[in-house]
Amino acid sequence: MLKTPVEQLYLVGPARAKLFKKLGILTLEDLLFYFPRAHHDLSKFSEIKDLKMGEMVNIKAKILEVKTFRTKVRRFTLTQALVEDGTDSIVCIWFNQPFLTKILKPHEEFVFSGKTVVAKNKLQLQNPVYEPVKTEQIHTSRLVPLYSLTSSLTQKQLRSIIKTYLDKVVLPDYLPSDIMRKEKLFSEDRAVKTFHFPDDYASLKMAQNRLAFDEIFQTQLRVLKYKFQRQQKNSFQVKIPDNLNEKIASLPFQLTAGQTQALTVILEDFDKSFPANRLLEGDVGSGKTIVAALALWVLARNNLQCVLLSPTEVLATQHYQTLLKFFEEDGINVALLTSTQSRINNNPVTKATLISQIKSGTIPIIIGTHALLEKQVKFKKLAMIVIDEQHRFGVEQRSILKSMSNAHLLTMSATPIPRTLALTLYGDLDLSILKELPAGRLKIVTKIVAEENRAKAYKFISDQIESGRQVFVICPLIEESDKLGVKSATSEHKKLSDLFPQFQIGLLHGKLKPAQKESAMQDFKDNKLQILVATSVIEVGVDVPNASVMMIEGAERFGLAQLHQFRGRVGRGEHKSYCFLFSDDPQALSNPRLKAIEENSNGFELAEKDLQIRGSGDLYGTKQSGYDFKIATLNNLDLVERTRGYAEELLYQDLNLNHYPLLKQKIEAKPLVHLE
Ligand code: ADP
Ligand code: MG
Repeated sequence: MLKTPVEQLYLVGPARAKLFKKLGILTLEDLLFYFPRAHHDLSKFSEIKDLKMGEMVNIKAKILEVKTFRTKVRRFTLTQALVEDGTDSIVCIWFNQPFLTKILKPHEEFVFSGKTVVAKNKLQLQNPVYEPVKTEQIHTSRLVPLYSLTSSLTQKQLRSIIKTYLDKVVLPDYLPSDIMRKEKLFSEDRAVKTFHFPDDYASLKMAQNRLAFDEIFQTQLRVLKYKFQRQQKNSFQVKIPDNLNEKIASLPFQLTAGQTQALTVILEDFDKSFPANRLLEGDVGSGKTIVAALALWVLARNNLQCVLLSPTEVLATQHYQTLLKFFEEDGINVALLTSTQSRINNNPVTKATLISQIKSGTIPIIIGTHALLEKQVKFKKLAMIVIDEQHRFGVEQRSILKSMSNAHLLTMSATPIPRTLALTLYGDLDLSILKELPAGRLKIVTKIVAEENRAKAYKFISDQIESGRQVFVICPLIEESDKLGVKSATSEHKKLSDLFPQFQIGLLHGKLKPAQKESAMQDFKDNKLQILVATSVIEVGVDVPNASVMMIEGAERFGLAQLHQFRGRVGRGEHKSYCFLFSDDPQALSNPRLKAIEENSNGFELAEKDLQIRGSGDLYGTKQSGYDFKIATLNNLDLVERTRGYAEELLYQDLNLNHYPLLKQKIEAKPLVHLE
């Protein structure tokens, strides 16, 4: 019954079904769950004697007389009813609804609600909504639901249709009864009916609470079910090599407490019988890579294979260079696979060779881009997948990975996830956080630079370069037609080359061939280039500790997270670093985003700011997950935690929800895309 298509409902029919479709209403169930966006409080009545001009009013009155006539001037019909309620009388008029004379019969009592206007020095109600007193009122006399509409559908029509079908069905409940009792929840049936037609605001709130509970509870079940099912897979046996501490001691720096802690937890994951699914969160420059590298090292020493996946070719190549050095002394093979490059250790090989060696298991460490996700790439014993900058990967790409094997999954991101999200949509992940930056990092000085100070900034840059440092210049994408920013970066490169003939200046943008990109990056790393003009291709991950100035042109065109990432390209070594924000917009000095970046150096605080500036928006990819909450919001941490508790308890007893077929149906009907 609930799945009946709306066009088969006699009050709807094919023509209206098309309108309903625009509202996302395809079945009877959709119709009943099409909740009002607000309620109009018409629960209180006025007496006619008290009416004032310009009010929305609701009166209960008896019809004295009704007439319909044509106006002389503009020739439309006018229906006029004189009504009285024992305190006074008033005229109600309607335009072009001559049929009303058949409905509004003298001596009968109606509720009228509408706005009072003055015509010919007297108060009138124009086009009021009317409902007979002797039947149940749904358009007046109560909290009246208001729906989002589409053209040619009126509130009255939709309201009547919904009411008719609400009266015909009893919605089944699917929540375990002990949860209903503990949470003092309305039944599903009562909640849905009350949400549309509440008796008062208190019961409306109760109804919404129940439905919000449903949404979050169901999400918890979906996520946790996925998590628990994953825990039934088997992972590889791993032995921690005796010389791990020596390897750590041989690093050019000491691990921070956070890095040591994260590594310890990852090694504990290796000890469990099932593959881990961990998110390593740490601000830009906190040193996530080395944590991953050490984990990879442990697995490689166990003759297992690992993949490190990067969102861009530039970053993949950089990781490849770093890890080549890291693994070289142990004689461990490292490969790079992107859509244009395939290499084993320092040697270019054909893609076919590389793929066959990966398949035969002779290469333990494989670094690459999404090219690694192609079907023909198969592994002998894939024990771990590390995804760097995980937020840059699409849903499909992540799902390929998850289905790939029973490898441990380690995702890394500088974007903090709020606690409520970590406990719901991302509730399948275990979390490790690097709270501090490596010791000795100096705070990056960030300044919005007004146009008249540009020359000063250039002088500053040139002094920095004279003292041995290097400079990034980021160009914005100005024209839509210039998606890769080739034009703006190229012209900036020319301008700076004219301005600083004494320096070597490189150019990096998305249109370059991979080999050109790599040589630009390599030359910059080797300080053969003092300035690198780039587009957002270097947004994430790029690591050149000698660079001390980040100049961002057209800064107002970038988002807060992006600006923070750009800034994170400097201040990665022992040198005092600077970030200069330029803008063609004269308002830049008071732009809230630019001010926020100027005032905050902490990515976690910036994420909060971003949330305030943009509103909840889609900062954390919740839309991408395929899930949007209709009623619930994720700011109720208490509810999030309670629902999680219930969901865990239920799944421990009955992972497949075999005792709760209706609940099972709901959970399976709406999978979370990001978990697929
Ligand atoms: P992110 O977390 O942004 O990916 P990286 O892993 O690229 O940061 O590390 C940033 C820089 O800090 C790199 O040059 C890295 O070698 C260095 N680094 C990492 N850990 C430490 C540490 N404990 N002490 C000093 N430098 C470190
Ligand atoms: Mg990184």
